[in-house]
Amino acid sequence: ITFTDLGLPDALVNALSKNSITVPSPIQAKALPDALAGRNVLGRAQTGSGKTLAFGLPMLTRLARHTDRPAAKRPRALVLVPTRELAFQVVESLGTYAGALGLTVRPAVGGTPFGKQADQLRRGVDILVATPGRLGDHLRQGTAILDAIEITALDEADQMADMGFLPEVRSILGDTRDDGQRLLFSATLDREVQSLVRQFLPDHVQHST
Ligand code: AMP
Repeated sequence: ITFTDLGLPDALVNALSKNSITVPSPIQAKALPDALAGRNVLGRAQTGSGKTLAFGLPMLTRLARHTDRPAAKRPRALVLVPTRELAFQVVESLGTYAGALGLTVRPAVGGTPFGKQADQLRRGVDILVATPGRLGDHLRQGTAILDAIEITALDEADQMADMGFLPEVRSILGDTRDDGQRLLFSATLDREVQSLVRQFLPDHVQHST
């Protein structure tokens, strides 16, 4: 199966092939059809499997298909990750492809000035890549509003659980639209992750590498 067969926009397929990404990885080949169809997906995948694009491509495709912007350019897609380093990697991985579609990706992570991030959010961001603690701060300050989030990805959910982030993650997911799509990727599925899945990924499809 090719990215074109999967229904990705031409601009996205072209940008991928410029980066020598021409054949979907196994987790992408399994998860993309369901994710692109709007289903909730639980993916069991390790780093290096291509999981970032497994959630990133459905996100970009969904935003590119429906270009109507919400009021005040509020973010329409959210990626939650356990660490700031991973947030920067995800922004870097998705940035080129987002740019090819006229979409923006920005980080909201701890350890960088809050005010600067708040300014970026005010100017408008399509895809927000956040660590739970800092995003929680933005929500309490009113500098991020998640009522336009139509697709959320949770990357390395088991790591977020190990780091004690699940209460904050639950609170954040509760702020996103109830009818939104959710993609959760985790190397392991312990009890805490399973309970998160039960609560926030109803009727999900599970795929693993
Ligand atoms: P990840 O598992 O998301 O950290 O991705 C690991 C690496 O694989 C990254 O450098 C990606 O750019 C690369 N990658 C992701 N998908 C593909 C693909 N379908 N073909 C070739 N490389 C890929």
